[in-house]
Formats: sequence, structure tokens, C-alpha cells
Amino acid sequence: MIAADSELRSLLTDADRQKLSAICGDGVRFDEPLAPYTSWKIGGPADAWVVAENEEQLAEVMRLCARRKLPWFVLGSGSNLLIGDGGVRGLVLRLAGEFAAIDVNDSGVEVIVRAGASAAMSLLTAKAASAGAIGIGSLAGIPGSVGGSLRMNAGTDREIGDFVREVWVQSPAKPQAHPVSVHYYYRHTSLARDAIVSRVTLAFERGQAQAVREEMQERLVRRKRTQPIALPNAGSCFRNPEGDKAARLIEAAGAKGWREGGAEVSALHANFITNTGSASAKDVASLLARVRRAVNEKFGVDLQLEVHLVGVFIE
Ligand SMILES: Cc1cc2nc3c(=O)[nH]c(=O)nc-3n(C[C@H](O)[C@H](O)[C@H](O)COP(=O)(O)OP(=O)(O)OC[C@H]3O[C@@H](n4cnc5c(N)ncnc54)[C@H](O)[C@@H]3O)c2cc1C
Repeated sequence: MIAADSELRSLLTDADRQKLSAICGDGVRFDEPLAPYTSWKIGGPADAWVVAENEEQLAEVMRLCARRKLPWFVLGSGSNLLIGDGGVRGLVLRLAGEFAAIDVNDSGVEVIVRAGASAAMSLLTAKAASAGAIGIGSLAGIPGSVGGSLRMNAGTDREIGDFVREVWVQSPAKPQAHPVSVHYYYRHTSLARDAIVSRVTLAFERGQAQAVREEMQERLVRRKRTQPIALPNAGSCFRNPEGDKAARLIEAAGAKGWREGGAEVSALHANFITNTGSASAKDVASLLARVRRAVNEKFGVDLQLEVHLVGVFIE
């Protein structure tokens, strides 16, 4: 599909631009390319790239979006996203500053971790492991933010939702941070579409720090061996279907090594697509469609995307 001119034109007025700059100062840029902010290194420009440093700034931005009916999208670490080559109309929000805080409290029985939504899961897991948080290894090596991981219910044999005690969100309808109750499913949650996670509390049973750290280390080493992390990628592209593995089906369909432009199905892990240097979103989207078709034709299984597609896709 060819994108219409209207899909590529900024939705912002000069007044919107001025208001955004007044709220977030230097944290605002216009027509900002998004590729550098995603692990695939792919994606066209955002009308506005808006970095909110605290809950008050975010609330102000939410109020503006509600008043002006501006579309927005919140980008965490960009490790589970395919952003279209035509970019994103409206605002792309990034949390930073106070949202990156991590506080670990050891009661002797439990390890309680309070984290802002932009905190890196890598740092959170390292800190929690040092306090002996049992089960934290299942979240180790996931290159996302806390907010993105919560939205995705990221994990391996256990998921972040298994450890959540409290989630606070903000939205255009209710801009002040407030607690919500969330249900967790395989790689998705009941979180409202317009909710931005601002902070999270996780609780773990407390064990021996050394044993927890060693287990985590083993998992990290295994990841390095089995995942093509030297090239830009977005982790597993498809969800595992009930009772099977997407990677197994893709490999059995003969798709390992398939290419579209600069995108390639990894020879190391068939559910990963790597950017070999110059892949566009169009290349990746074509390859995803080809793989999905092949698995469906061969095994009658309709794979569902795990990565989120965002923005305008151009033929
Ligand atoms: C090498 C590699 C390995 C990976 N391994 C795993 C794995 O083992 N298990 C696993 O589950 N995933 C894995 N992933 C996928 C990815 O890391 C996770 O899904 C991660 O949790 C996404 O977090 P993010 O901050 O990057 O989210 P993004 O990719 O930025 O966003 C993902 C979604 O979350 C939303 N979002 C982001 N921040 C917020 C917020 N504050 N509030 C509300 N919504 C928000 C976005 O709008 C988007 O819809 C892997 C990815 C890579 C590249």
C-alpha cells in the first residue's frame, strides 16, 4: 500500500509545537527519526519526539493530547517494535529522568523493587539479583524498559506479571498517576490502550544472593549462545502457538536465511529477523508476511506477531 500524502504530513500546529516545548523544554524535537531509538534501527520520523522527565510533565503532555485530540505513542527501549518507514504522526513519548529510578528494599523475607517505567530491565535484574530476589533470572537479558516489559508481560519461563504487586499509570483521561489492577497473559496484559505505565512495584521471595546471581549468569550465557545479538533485531517476532515453538515451525518451513532487502531470518534463531545493515520496515514486513505464509501453508498454523507494528508503512 502506498502511503497518502496526508499520512506523511505532520499533525502539529505551531501552537502545539510551542506548547510542547514550554512543557518539556530541550526534551522536545520535531521530525525526529526514530530508527536510533529502536533495537532494529528502523523507523521514519515522529512529528514530535517528547521526553518527559517526571510525572508532572507527563500529566501536562497528556492534558495537551486530550485537549487537542493528538495521537501519541509511548516508546520504551524500542526492543519490541517495528516502526514504519513513513514514521509516526503525532507525539512519540519517551520517559526519562525520575522515571529511571530503581529502589531495592530487602526485608529479610522479601525483596521489594520499586522502579520507574523507563528503568532498564538489565539494571533492575542485576540489582534485584544482588539482593537475592528468587525468580529474577527469568527476566534477565530482556533488553527492555520496565514500562515496555509490563505492557508486554515480558519473560521466559516466568513473566514480569508473576512478580507485580502494584502498577501506576497515567492517561489523557486521567493524567495524574494512579494505581490500576492488571491481568497478565502470554506477552500481553489487560492494561488499557491509553494507559502509560509510570511506576511499578515488584515483590520477590528472598534467597541467597550468590545462588541467584549464578543462576542469572548461566541464563545470560545461554542467551548469548542462542541469539543473534551481534546484529540489530527485536527478539522473537512471533508468539509461540499453543503447545509449539514458532522458531521450530519457521525452521521446519525452510525459512532460515531467507532475505528481503536488508532483512534476514536468522540462521541462529529462526524466530529472529536481523537487520543486516540497510533493512527498511518494508523489508522486515515483507519477510514477516512471507514467513507467516510459509508456516501456514506447510503446517496450517497462523503465527501471531509478538512485535508491535507502529506508524505508517510505505510500499
Ligand atoms: C535480543 C532480544 C531478546 C529479547 N528477549 C525477550 C525475552 O526473552 N522475553 C520477552 O518477553 N521479550 C524479549 N524481547 C522483546 C522485548 O525486549 C520485550 O518485549 C521488552 O519487554 C519490551 O520493552 P521495551 O521497553 O523495549 O518496549 P518497546 O519495544 O519500546 O514497546 C513495546 C510496547 O510497549 C509499550 N510501552 C512501552 N513503554 C510503555 C509504558 N511506559 N507504558 C505503557 N506501554 C508502554 C509500547 O507502546 C509498545 O506497544 C527481546 C528483544 C530483543 C531485542
